[in-house]
Amino acid sequence: MVELQTAIELLKAQAPTVVITGAGVSNESGVPTFRGAGGLWRNYRAEDLATPAAFARNPQLVWEWYEMRRKICAAAEPGAAHRTIADMERRLPEFLLITQNVDGLHGRAGNRSHIEIHGNIFRARCTGACGSRGRRALPYTPAMPLPPHCPECGAMLRPDIVWFGESYDPALLGRCTAALERARLVIVAGTSGVVPIPVHLASIAAARGAIIVDINPVASAVSELADVIIAGKAGEALPELWPAAAGSGE
Ligand code: NAD
Repeated sequence: MVELQTAIELLKAQAPTVVITGAGVSNESGVPTFRGAGGLWRNYRAEDLATPAAFARNPQLVWEWYEMRRKICAAAEPGAAHRTIADMERRLPEFLLITQNVDGLHGRAGNRSHIEIHGNIFRARCTGACGSRGRRALPYTPAMPLPPHCPECGAMLRPDIVWFGESYDPALLGRCTAALERARLVIVAGTSGVVPIPVHLASIAAARGAIIVDINPVASAVSELADVIIAGKAGEALPELWPAAAGSGE
């Protein structure tokens, strides 16, 4: 396929590259996606729990759901996809990883300057007087009393996650947009695009002529704007794509 060869050539030439990841990239590490098998918890859908209204109604329930997910994420290990993307960041001079994932696996694989656009499940922020300066690390510890409270002001903590219906951090979005305006290659992996941010971000680069690669075993909303569709698992497709460029020795 001509476009796949073009993508490989762009990687070889160290062209400005952006990778956008979603839950599918961590699926191979045992972290369930929201949609598909394992997406339901006690008959609740993620869309009914990851909202400010759900937290206001029943913070205990929302924290119990996050605690279940935090336990899974803490036990998970980065996989081949995470390791490949970390290697890209190390070797490509102009590279940005934007992840929708909140599991911290990209950081644990070695990425240092990536953007976690939806936050991180191992951080929390204060809902009370501390406000925005109350953002803090909250590592997983078994049997943590729920809901957790702020050690500074005693108010309830909430997960440091961008919930459905909440706004993105404009500073982070600005960094994403700047990178996508310069990108000549965008690789989108493991996202359904049901949450529209990956499609929105990829279209910024597509409108400027960048090559868009979509890696997903099934068709996604990203597939519609993709030049190259790799219908496979991220943990297999990414390591194949990257040595094709990085291992050439040229
Ligand atoms: P999603 O659940 O909507 O879609 C996951 C996609 O991954 C699907 O299209 C599926 O076909 C694909 N997929 C499954 N296994 C794959 C694999 N091995 N390789 C490549 N693709 C694979 O997830 P989303 O699009 O990321 O959006 C949903 C929201 O879910 C995001 O806001 C994210 O914050 C949140 N979320 C995060 C995690 C996590 O941090 N690991 C897990 C679940 C949900």
